[in-house]
Amino acid sequence: MTTSLHPPLQGAPVLVVGAGIMGAGIAQVAAQAGHPVWLFDMREGAAAAACEQIGKTLDGLEAKGRIAAGQAQAVRARLQPLAALEQARGAALAVEAIVENLEAKRALFRDLEGLLGPQAVLATNTSSISVTAIARGLQAPQRLVGMHFFNPVPLMKLVEVVSGLQTDAAVAEAIFELSKAWGKVPVHAKSTPGFIVNRIARPYYAETLALLLEQAAAPQVIDACLRAAGFRMGPCELMDLIGHDTNYAVTNSVYEANFFDKRFVPSLVQREMVDGGLLGRKSGRGFYRYPEGASALAPAAHEALAPAASVTVHGEGPIAEALAAAAAPVCAGLGIAASRAAGSAWTGLAIDGARLVLTDGRCAAEIAADGAGADVVVFDRPVALSSAPGAPLATALAYAVAPQAGARWRAQAPAWLAALGCAPVALADTPGLVVARTVAMLVNEAADAVLQGVCTPEGADAAMKLGVNYPAGPFEWLSRWGAPGVIGVLQALDAHYRGERYRVSPWLRRQAVGC
Ligand code: NAD
Repeated sequence: MTTSLHPPLQGAPVLVVGAGIMGAGIAQVAAQAGHPVWLFDMREGAAAAACEQIGKTLDGLEAKGRIAAGQAQAVRARLQPLAALEQARGAALAVEAIVENLEAKRALFRDLEGLLGPQAVLATNTSSISVTAIARGLQAPQRLVGMHFFNPVPLMKLVEVVSGLQTDAAVAEAIFELSKAWGKVPVHAKSTPGFIVNRIARPYYAETLALLLEQAAAPQVIDACLRAAGFRMGPCELMDLIGHDTNYAVTNSVYEANFFDKRFVPSLVQREMVDGGLLGRKSGRGFYRYPEGASALAPAAHEALAPAASVTVHGEGPIAEALAAAAAPVCAGLGIAASRAAGSAWTGLAIDGARLVLTDGRCAAEIAADGAGADVVVFDRPVALSSAPGAPLATALAYAVAPQAGARWRAQAPAWLAALGCAPVALADTPGLVVARTVAMLVNEAADAVLQGVCTPEGADAAMKLGVNYPAGPFEWLSRWGAPGVIGVLQALDAHYRGERYRVSPWLRRQAVGC
């Protein structure tokens, strides 16, 4: 198929099939971009009701001055509900947003193929079904492409343009360009389970569920740590918002579609909640109770800093620099000056022989047993900080105490973390704590996605920032942290847990050795 097979799509009539939450959003965006839009739904009256609702939304936007005067009426005039699919002859593009069912989508596209001209582009908004599979049985499977919007469509900028095995590159490119014209940020993706966002995001939930399974921390603690790292919502409150049934179904589908790769194995914690109807906000109870939601994490009490005779800042790089900057006034207050040991194999502070160690993925107990002495406390990776040397430490920061540690250091370590500018929150002695293990796993999943040609690093970064509002893209974190550091955490997790979940992506390994 060549570009000549589909005419320019800009301004051409667009058919949207399915007038549910996504179809209505897609229709609104297409109409606002200037297309005549025809909306069809198999439920009688649904398309008309959706057009009416879009009109009201636009009136509201116009009243608030968010769109120009007269635009609501102009857009309304471009929107037309259809009573029958047959009325859609002449559409240059059909965007399908019906029920998430392979057979229903195949049947619809077979009908559309017979109805629309040979040059029309067929797009599916499926969030989890293979585009390759949907195209099977079509006379021209090359004109079917994924156009995966995010909810709410008018607000979310990302569109994953998903190519199946037979999708013509020119068709994908035409949808890419059209998405831009609709004010979106498109990213090319290969049709693989979860595409980009739903795949790379899995560890955000999975690592939290793993921590909860082994009782390392309460949901409030995990949420606070990841919010402090810049995530807009913690994983527990986010799963409650998405709905545990939906989140569990996506995890299951990615797991099954990857031939039950243990890396994607769902969690007993979540299955139990789904089985019990604790679905989150919509059922009134998930990790939190609603409408109250999560209560704020009470700041933990800690004792005052005791006098110290010697403080040494170990390690190099932005986190060591920030630690040195934060420690200087604290030491001055104690009447001493901190020294530096930049060449150390670890990053953190040594205070009268006791250690406050930046996590390298190992438990505090392992670090202590590996020759660091009994008094070891590990602290989590302050992700927000690592991009800005000299910036204050992140707020909530997880720490864990080695079981061997003495009572004095157990009490003094959180006092030091607080004096350095963060709100220390205690965790069971767990490898990689909260942020380090989560971010390392997000980077690892993104690396595998790139290895498998699902997307480019730039595409993954844009997708995660725009599709799920991450504070940075996985490859941005990687460039700040460095492949050896990420691999170190993953290897420590792998050595601790065994199994497939923490295996290091070959792409990352190659990155670390520069090939
Ligand atoms: P929805 O249930 O709100 O709407 C689906 C609509 O399609 C309903 O109005 C239904 O009557 C209609 N429909 C079903 N079968 C039809 C058919 N054969 N012909 C015509 N109309 C039909 O669902 P939704 O949340 O809008 O999801 C639609 C699609 O978008 C699904 O494939 C879903 O996976 C995908 N998606 C959803 C989201 C989301 O957050 N909801 C995000 C991205 C993609």
